[in-house]
Amino acid sequence: MDAATITTWMTEIESSVRTERDHLVQLDAAIGDGDHGTNMARGFEAVVQALANDSGSPPGRVLIVAGRTLVSTVGGASGPLWGSALRSGGRALGDQTTFEAGQLVEVLAAALASVKDLGTAARGDKTMVDALEPAVETLRERLGAGDSLPAAIDAAANAAEAGMRSTIPLQARKGRASYLGERSVGHQDPGATSTALIIRALQRAVATEA
Ligand code: ADP
Ligand code: MG
Repeated sequence: MDAATITTWMTEIESSVRTERDHLVQLDAAIGDGDHGTNMARGFEAVVQALANDSGSPPGRVLIVAGRTLVSTVGGASGPLWGSALRSGGRALGDQTTFEAGQLVEVLAAALASVKDLGTAARGDKTMVDALEPAVETLRERLGAGDSLPAAIDAAANAAEAGMRSTIPLQARKGRASYLGERSVGHQDPGATSTALIIRALQRAVATEA
């Protein structure tokens, strides 16, 4: 995998959050302020534009540019959280021009660590961590068990989707939804939903390599 893999990932995210924008808005309208779909669509549209003007950069650099773009274009919590996640993931790759499956795990692990560090959410707090953490764990486990990368990423995307659904009965303990207390129960977390889209987009980006 190389810089093109990351660029394809970002393009796949952009198309996915654009398609799901209204759904993400509805989810956020129920337990937040209704901007999550527009935040993510605007942010990743800017990322795709920024990357169109950036050719020849190594994959880590592409992630850093993407993260920086999200921070500067998205006002909501998801901008700084995903922005720092992608920047940390990019730093994990350094200046290398290609990377292997094991390093992709390190990219996602660094992204998760950054989200948890910045947002101080743990699993079960009804946030994007509920989708991202099981995805990272599953990817690591399945590669460790000898699965091919496409199979392991598919399992990771399934784990993210299961994590997304697992937020429905939870009470939010972080972010805007936590202000609702018990009234946040019974709704799927918007950030966990977009995170599942982001991992599924990675699966498609990796599949185009094979
Ligand atoms: P805002 O809440 O500022 O309007 P968004 O609507 O774009 O921002 O994003 C909301 C999502 O951000 C939530 O659904 C949740 O998944 C995620 N989120 C909010 N606060 C945190 C946090 N402290 N840690 C991790 N994720 C969080
Ligand atoms: Mg919001």
